[in-house]
Amino acid sequence: MNKVIDPFGRTFQTLRVSLSESCSMACVYCVHSESSLSESNADSTSAVLTVEGYLSIIQSIHHITPLTTIRLTGGEPLLFKPLPELIKGIVNLGISSIKITTNGLQLLDRLSELKEAGLRSINISLDALDPDTFYSLTRVNKIKKVLDGIEAAVSSGLEVKLNTVVLKNFNEHQIVPLLEYAAGRNIPIRFLELMSMGYLNKSHESYFVSQEEILDIIQRVTTIARIPRSMSSTANYWMTARGWKFGVIANSSEPFCMDCNRLRLDSYGNIWGCLSSTVSYSAKNKTQDELQQILAAALATKQTAFSGSALSMKYIGG
Ligand code: SAM
Repeated sequence: MNKVIDPFGRTFQTLRVSLSESCSMACVYCVHSESSLSESNADSTSAVLTVEGYLSIIQSIHHITPLTTIRLTGGEPLLFKPLPELIKGIVNLGISSIKITTNGLQLLDRLSELKEAGLRSINISLDALDPDTFYSLTRVNKIKKVLDGIEAAVSSGLEVKLNTVVLKNFNEHQIVPLLEYAAGRNIPIRFLELMSMGYLNKSHESYFVSQEEILDIIQRVTTIARIPRSMSSTANYWMTARGWKFGVIANSSEPFCMDCNRLRLDSYGNIWGCLSSTVSYSAKNKTQDELQQILAAALATKQTAFSGSALSMKYIGG
Protein backbone atom coordinates (compact mmCIF):
# COMPACT_ATOMS: atom_id res chain seq x y z
CA MET A 1 0.00 0.00 0.00
CA ASN A 2 1.26 3.50 -0.83
CA LYS A 3 2.24 5.39 2.27
CA VAL A 4 2.36 8.71 0.42
CA ILE A 5 -0.66 9.70 -1.64
CA ASP A 6 -2.32 13.01 -2.48
CA PRO A 7 -6.06 13.92 -2.30
CA PHE A 8 -6.42 13.09 -6.03
CA GLY A 9 -5.01 9.60 -5.46
CA ARG A 10 -1.67 10.49 -7.01
CA THR A 11 1.50 8.91 -5.71
CA PHE A 12 4.89 8.50 -7.39
CA GLN A 13 7.02 5.73 -8.85
CA THR A 14 9.45 7.88 -10.81
CA LEU A 15 12.06 10.17 -9.32
CA ARG A 16 13.65 12.73 -11.63
CA VAL A 17 17.07 13.57 -10.28
CA SER A 18 18.91 16.72 -11.30
CA LEU A 19 22.67 16.23 -11.29
CA SER A 20 23.64 19.82 -11.98
CA GLU A 21 22.23 23.23 -12.76
CA SER A 22 25.07 23.73 -15.22
CA CYS A 23 24.58 23.04 -18.89
CA SER A 24 26.82 22.80 -21.93
CA MET A 25 24.15 24.49 -24.03
CA ALA A 26 22.27 27.72 -23.47
CA CYS A 27 18.92 27.02 -25.13
CA VAL A 28 16.91 30.15 -25.78
CA TYR A 29 13.80 28.82 -24.02
CA CYS A 30 15.78 27.87 -20.94
CA VAL A 31 18.27 30.66 -20.29
CA HIS A 32 18.20 34.34 -21.10
CA SER A 33 21.71 34.67 -22.46
CA GLU A 34 24.66 32.50 -23.37
CA SER A 35 26.51 33.82 -20.33
CA SER A 36 25.22 30.82 -18.37
CA LEU A 37 26.87 28.39 -20.78
CA SER A 38 29.19 25.95 -19.00
CA GLU A 39 32.15 24.53 -20.87
CA SER A 40 31.56 20.98 -22.06
CA ASN A 41 34.21 19.57 -19.78
CA ALA A 42 33.37 21.81 -16.84
CA ASP A 43 33.19 20.30 -13.41
CA SER A 44 29.67 20.19 -12.02
CA THR A 45 30.59 22.46 -9.15
CA SER A 46 26.95 23.37 -8.51
CA ALA A 47 26.07 19.73 -7.77
CA VAL A 48 26.09 20.06 -4.03
CA LEU A 49 25.13 16.43 -3.50
CA THR A 50 27.85 13.82 -3.87
CA VAL A 51 27.22 10.32 -5.21
CA GLU A 52 26.82 9.15 -1.60
CA GLY A 53 24.42 12.04 -0.91
CA TYR A 54 22.24 11.15 -3.90
CA LEU A 55 22.25 7.43 -3.08
CA SER A 56 21.38 8.01 0.55
CA ILE A 57 18.30 10.10 -0.33
CA ILE A 58 17.22 7.79 -3.17
CA GLN A 59 17.56 4.73 -0.91
CA SER A 60 15.50 6.34 1.84
CA ILE A 61 12.76 7.36 -0.61
CA HIS A 62 12.80 3.88 -2.16
CA HIS A 63 12.19 2.39 1.32
CA ILE A 64 9.13 4.58 1.83
CA THR A 65 7.66 4.25 -1.68
CA PRO A 66 9.25 1.71 -4.03
CA LEU A 67 10.63 3.52 -7.07
CA THR A 68 10.41 1.87 -10.48
CA THR A 69 12.29 4.49 -12.47
CA ILE A 70 15.02 7.04 -11.91
CA ARG A 71 15.52 9.65 -14.62
CA LEU A 72 18.81 11.53 -14.38
CA THR A 73 18.59 15.04 -15.74
CA GLY A 74 19.63 18.62 -15.06
CA GLY A 75 21.06 21.02 -16.25
CA GLU A 76 23.19 18.64 -18.21
CA PRO A 77 23.61 15.28 -16.41
CA LEU A 78 26.62 14.27 -18.50
CA LEU A 79 28.59 17.10 -16.85
CA PHE A 80 28.38 15.11 -13.60
CA LYS A 81 31.76 13.37 -13.58
CA PRO A 82 31.00 10.37 -11.30
CA LEU A 83 27.88 9.47 -13.30
CA PRO A 84 28.82 5.78 -13.84
CA GLU A 85 29.38 5.37 -10.10
CA LEU A 86 25.95 6.87 -9.41
CA ILE A 87 24.24 4.61 -11.98
CA LYS A 88 25.91 1.51 -10.51
CA GLY A 89 24.83 2.62 -7.02
CA ILE A 90 21.20 3.01 -8.14
CA VAL A 91 21.28 -0.44 -9.77
CA ASN A 92 22.58 -1.83 -6.45
CA LEU A 93 19.58 -0.32 -4.68
CA GLY A 94 17.43 -2.64 -6.81
CA ILE A 95 16.13 0.03 -9.21
CA SER A 96 16.92 -1.20 -12.69
CA SER A 97 15.05 1.32 -14.83
CA ILE A 98 17.60 4.13 -15.03
CA LYS A 99 17.12 6.69 -17.77
CA ILE A 100 18.89 9.89 -18.76
CA THR A 101 17.78 13.06 -20.50
CA THR A 102 20.75 14.73 -22.16
CA ASN A 103 21.63 17.31 -24.80
CA GLY A 104 23.95 14.69 -26.30
CA LEU A 105 27.03 16.90 -26.51
CA GLN A 106 29.24 14.69 -24.33
CA LEU A 107 27.50 11.45 -25.29
CA LEU A 108 30.09 10.02 -27.67
CA ASP A 109 32.80 10.38 -25.00
CA ARG A 110 30.75 8.88 -22.16
CA LEU A 111 28.45 6.33 -23.80
CA SER A 112 30.38 3.12 -23.15
CA GLU A 113 30.99 3.85 -19.44
CA LEU A 114 27.31 4.74 -18.94
CA LYS A 115 26.08 1.60 -20.68
CA GLU A 116 28.53 -0.54 -18.78
CA ALA A 117 27.29 1.01 -15.52
CA GLY A 118 23.72 -0.09 -16.26
CA LEU A 119 22.07 2.68 -18.28
CA ARG A 120 19.36 1.27 -20.57
CA SER A 121 17.43 4.24 -21.90
CA ILE A 122 18.28 7.71 -23.07
CA ASN A 123 16.30 10.74 -24.24
CA ILE A 124 18.34 13.09 -26.38
CA SER A 125 17.29 16.67 -27.05
CA LEU A 126 17.54 17.66 -30.69
CA ASP A 127 15.77 20.87 -31.66
CA ALA A 128 17.00 21.07 -35.26
CA LEU A 129 19.00 19.27 -37.94
CA ASP A 130 19.93 22.39 -39.83
CA PRO A 131 23.18 23.70 -38.23
CA ASP A 132 22.14 27.38 -38.29
CA THR A 133 18.77 26.65 -36.71
CA PHE A 134 20.44 24.39 -34.16
CA TYR A 135 22.80 27.23 -33.25
CA SER A 136 20.00 29.79 -33.04
CA LEU A 137 18.23 27.60 -30.47
CA THR A 138 21.12 26.17 -28.45
CA ARG A 139 23.76 28.91 -28.91
CA VAL A 140 26.27 26.11 -29.48
CA ASN A 141 27.78 25.35 -32.86
CA LYS A 142 28.33 21.64 -32.34
CA ILE A 143 25.49 19.78 -34.00
CA LYS A 144 27.86 17.16 -35.44
CA LYS A 145 28.90 16.08 -31.95
CA VAL A 146 25.25 15.62 -30.99
CA LEU A 147 24.40 13.70 -34.17
CA ASP A 148 27.47 11.46 -33.72
CA GLY A 149 26.34 10.82 -30.13
CA ILE A 150 22.85 9.84 -31.34
CA GLU A 151 24.27 7.44 -33.96
CA ALA A 152 26.49 5.83 -31.32
CA ALA A 153 23.62 5.51 -28.83
CA VAL A 154 21.37 3.88 -31.45
CA SER A 155 24.14 1.47 -32.55
CA SER A 156 24.88 0.56 -28.92
CA GLY A 157 21.39 -0.93 -28.50
CA LEU A 158 20.25 1.58 -25.88
CA GLU A 159 16.58 2.56 -26.02
CA VAL A 160 16.75 6.04 -27.61
CA LYS A 161 14.09 8.74 -27.91
CA LEU A 162 14.49 12.26 -29.28
CA ASN A 163 12.97 15.42 -27.75
CA THR A 164 12.33 18.57 -29.76
CA VAL A 165 10.97 21.75 -28.22
CA VAL A 166 9.06 23.59 -30.96
CA LEU A 167 9.41 27.36 -30.95
CA LYS A 168 7.50 29.74 -33.21
CA ASN A 169 9.66 31.28 -35.96
CA PHE A 170 12.62 29.17 -34.89
CA ASN A 171 12.22 25.53 -35.82
CA GLU A 172 8.73 24.68 -37.13
CA HIS A 173 10.37 24.02 -40.52
CA GLN A 174 12.50 21.34 -38.81
CA ILE A 175 9.54 19.22 -37.66
CA VAL A 176 9.26 17.10 -40.82
CA PRO A 177 13.04 16.68 -41.38
CA LEU A 178 13.40 15.64 -37.73
CA LEU A 179 10.53 13.18 -38.03
CA GLU A 180 12.19 11.64 -41.11
CA TYR A 181 15.56 11.56 -39.33
CA ALA A 182 14.07 9.69 -36.35
CA ALA A 183 12.13 7.31 -38.60
CA GLY A 184 15.30 6.52 -40.53
CA ARG A 185 16.84 5.30 -37.28
CA ASN A 186 13.65 3.63 -36.07
CA ILE A 187 13.47 5.76 -32.92
CA PRO A 188 10.50 7.75 -31.61
CA ILE A 189 10.65 11.52 -31.56
CA ARG A 190 8.52 13.69 -29.25
CA PHE A 191 7.71 17.31 -30.08
CA LEU A 192 7.31 19.42 -26.93
CA GLU A 193 4.98 22.34 -26.50
CA LEU A 194 6.90 25.19 -24.88
CA MET A 195 6.20 25.38 -21.14
CA SER A 196 5.90 28.79 -19.49
CA MET A 197 9.03 28.59 -17.40
CA GLY A 198 11.96 30.78 -16.54
CA TYR A 199 12.40 34.18 -18.15
CA LEU A 200 9.73 33.32 -20.78
CA ASN A 201 7.19 32.68 -18.04
CA LYS A 202 5.12 35.75 -18.88
CA SER A 203 5.81 35.90 -22.62
CA HIS A 204 5.81 32.30 -23.75
CA GLU A 205 2.66 32.76 -25.93
CA SER A 206 4.67 34.57 -28.60
CA TYR A 207 6.86 31.47 -29.04
CA PHE A 208 4.21 28.84 -28.37
CA VAL A 209 3.34 26.23 -31.02
CA SER A 210 0.39 24.01 -30.06
CA GLN A 211 -0.04 20.27 -30.48
CA GLU A 212 -2.68 21.00 -33.14
CA GLU A 213 -0.25 23.18 -35.13
CA ILE A 214 2.46 20.51 -34.86
CA LEU A 215 0.04 17.85 -36.11
CA ASP A 216 -1.10 20.13 -38.97
CA ILE A 217 2.49 20.47 -40.16
CA ILE A 218 3.01 16.69 -40.08
CA GLN A 219 -0.33 16.02 -41.80
CA ARG A 220 0.80 18.06 -44.78
CA VAL A 221 3.16 15.20 -45.63
CA THR A 222 1.45 12.08 -44.23
CA THR A 223 -1.71 10.74 -42.68
CA ILE A 224 -1.50 9.89 -38.98
CA ALA A 225 -3.40 7.70 -36.49
CA ARG A 226 -3.47 8.28 -32.75
CA ILE A 227 -2.22 5.53 -30.44
CA PRO A 228 -4.06 5.20 -27.08
CA ARG A 229 -2.13 7.02 -24.33
CA SER A 230 -0.60 4.85 -21.64
CA MET A 231 -1.15 5.77 -17.99
CA SER A 232 1.24 8.46 -16.65
CA SER A 233 2.82 9.01 -20.07
CA THR A 234 3.95 12.57 -20.70
CA ALA A 235 3.47 12.16 -24.45
CA ASN A 236 0.54 11.52 -26.77
CA TYR A 237 1.64 9.23 -29.60
CA TRP A 238 0.71 8.84 -33.26
CA MET A 239 1.76 6.51 -36.06
CA THR A 240 2.21 7.81 -39.59
CA ALA A 241 0.96 5.92 -42.65
CA ARG A 242 4.54 4.71 -43.16
CA GLY A 243 4.79 3.32 -39.62
CA TRP A 244 6.80 6.14 -38.04
CA LYS A 245 5.99 6.66 -34.36
CA PHE A 246 6.06 10.17 -32.96
CA GLY A 247 4.72 11.92 -29.89
CA VAL A 248 3.67 15.35 -28.71
CA ILE A 249 4.21 16.44 -25.12
CA ALA A 250 1.24 18.76 -24.97
CA ASN A 251 1.65 20.28 -21.57
CA SER A 252 -0.78 23.14 -22.36
CA SER A 253 -3.14 21.63 -24.94
CA GLU A 254 -3.67 18.33 -23.11
CA PRO A 255 -2.31 18.61 -19.56
CA PHE A 256 -1.27 15.29 -18.07
CA CYS A 257 -0.95 16.40 -14.44
CA MET A 258 -3.81 14.26 -13.14
CA ASP A 259 -1.96 10.98 -13.53
CA CYS A 260 1.54 12.38 -13.01
CA ASN A 261 3.63 9.80 -11.15
CA ARG A 262 6.81 11.87 -10.74
CA LEU A 263 8.65 13.66 -7.99
CA ARG A 264 11.89 15.60 -8.43
CA LEU A 265 15.13 15.80 -6.47
CA ASP A 266 17.41 18.74 -7.26
CA SER A 267 21.19 18.82 -6.97
CA TYR A 268 20.97 20.51 -3.55
CA GLY A 269 18.93 17.65 -2.06
CA ASN A 270 15.53 19.35 -2.29
CA ILE A 271 12.34 17.54 -3.25
CA TRP A 272 9.97 19.24 -5.68
CA GLY A 273 6.42 17.95 -6.20
CA CYS A 274 5.84 19.76 -9.43
CA LEU A 275 7.66 21.83 -12.06
CA SER A 276 5.25 24.69 -11.45
CA SER A 277 5.66 24.57 -7.69
CA THR A 278 7.40 27.44 -5.92
CA VAL A 279 8.33 25.43 -2.85
CA SER A 280 10.76 22.60 -2.28
CA TYR A 281 11.62 20.54 0.79
CA SER A 282 15.11 19.57 1.87
CA ALA A 283 15.55 15.79 2.05
CA LYS A 284 19.06 15.95 3.47
CA ASN A 285 19.83 14.33 6.85
CA LYS A 286 16.25 13.38 7.62
CA THR A 287 14.85 10.43 9.57
CA GLN A 288 12.53 8.09 7.66
CA ASP A 289 9.51 9.63 9.42
CA GLU A 290 10.60 13.15 8.57
CA LEU A 291 11.28 12.15 4.99
CA GLN A 292 7.85 10.57 4.66
CA GLN A 293 6.28 13.85 5.79
CA ILE A 294 8.43 15.77 3.34
CA LEU A 295 7.38 13.52 0.46
CA ALA A 296 3.73 13.98 1.42
CA ALA A 297 4.18 17.77 1.60
CA ALA A 298 5.90 17.85 -1.81
CA LEU A 299 3.21 15.64 -3.33
CA ALA A 300 0.54 17.99 -1.95
CA THR A 301 2.01 20.82 -4.07
CA LYS A 302 1.26 18.93 -7.29
CA GLN A 303 -1.09 20.95 -9.46
CA THR A 304 -4.05 19.78 -11.49
CA ALA A 305 -2.78 21.72 -14.51
CA PHE A 306 0.59 23.33 -15.14
CA SER A 307 0.48 26.97 -14.09
CA GLY A 308 3.98 28.10 -15.03
CA SER A 309 7.06 28.98 -13.05
CA ALA A 310 9.56 31.80 -12.95
CA LEU A 311 12.24 29.16 -12.46
CA SER A 312 13.92 27.78 -15.57
CA MET A 313 13.66 24.02 -15.95
CA LYS A 314 17.41 23.63 -15.62
CA TYR A 315 17.23 24.60 -11.93
CA ILE A 316 14.66 21.97 -10.93
CA GLY A 317 15.58 19.26 -13.40
CA GLY A 318 13.61 18.81 -16.63
N1 SAM B 1 20.30 19.16 -20.60
C1 SAM B 1 19.44 18.04 -20.82
C2 SAM B 1 18.75 18.14 -22.14
O1 SAM B 1 18.97 19.11 -22.86
O2 SAM B 1 18.00 17.23 -22.49
C3 SAM B 1 18.45 17.78 -19.69
C4 SAM B 1 17.76 18.93 -19.06
S1 SAM B 1 16.61 19.80 -20.12
C5 SAM B 1 15.95 20.97 -18.97
C6 SAM B 1 15.34 18.58 -20.31
C7 SAM B 1 14.37 18.82 -21.43
O3 SAM B 1 13.57 19.92 -21.11
C8 SAM B 1 15.00 19.11 -22.78
O4 SAM B 1 14.43 18.28 -23.76
C9 SAM B 1 14.64 20.56 -23.02
O5 SAM B 1 14.51 20.83 -24.37
C10 SAM B 1 13.32 20.66 -22.29
N2 SAM B 1 12.92 22.01 -21.87
C11 SAM B 1 13.64 22.93 -21.21
N3 SAM B 1 12.92 24.05 -20.99
C12 SAM B 1 11.71 23.81 -21.54
C13 SAM B 1 10.51 24.58 -21.66
N4 SAM B 1 10.41 25.82 -21.16
N5 SAM B 1 9.44 24.02 -22.27
C14 SAM B 1 9.52 22.76 -22.77
N6 SAM B 1 10.61 22.00 -22.71
C15 SAM B 1 11.69 22.52 -22.11
